[in-house]
Amino acid sequence: MRQVSIRHVILDRDGVLNREAPESGYVRAPAEFHWLPGALEGLAVMRRAGLRLSVATNQSGVGRGLMSLEQLAAVHARMQAEAAAHGGALDAVLVCPHAPEDACACRKPAPGLIEAAIARSGIAAAESIVVGDDQRDLEAARRAGVAAALVRTGKGRQTEERLSGSAVSTYDDLLQLARAIAGQR
Ligand SMILES: [Mg+2]
Ligand SMILES: [Zn+2]
Repeated sequence: MRQVSIRHVILDRDGVLNREAPESGYVRAPAEFHWLPGALEGLAVMRRAGLRLSVATNQSGVGRGLMSLEQLAAVHARMQAEAAAHGGALDAVLVCPHAPEDACACRKPAPGLIEAAIARSGIAAAESIVVGDDQRDLEAARRAGVAAALVRTGKGRQTEERLSGSAVSTYDDLLQLARAIAGQR
């Protein structure tokens, strides 16, 4: 991927860790959170390699009034508990709850959420990588000065087609990416 070794992985949530909700809806309850194949194992592989794991996710369903922060917290409590139970505990979960019209600084492709993950980690941007399935994840990474990789889950294949010819590292899923990063350490 690069010469510098990666110590911190900043993960998008929907389409990277879990299946996106159908009909571009939102995951509003723990029972609606469905891990993608290989995601839990991928987290565990990275954790065992000593990597810090952050999640940075746009959840505009909150700002749009379609779910509450309490509902979102319940979803994330399940996500964190299951990740930890499988050996892939998450160090931080950062959320942008705003609607697009709020014009906040954290909703990807704005860089705020990625910058916050970096600041909280105490690990340099140069030793971090953003993992996403959507062009806006890659754009947020670029604006934050952080490397990025694409996974072909969620919107990933669509994004890959749209980016055809660009040099972004692309992996079939989180497990394949995790093994590539862990193997460099
Ligand atoms: Mg996504
Ligand atoms: Zn925001």
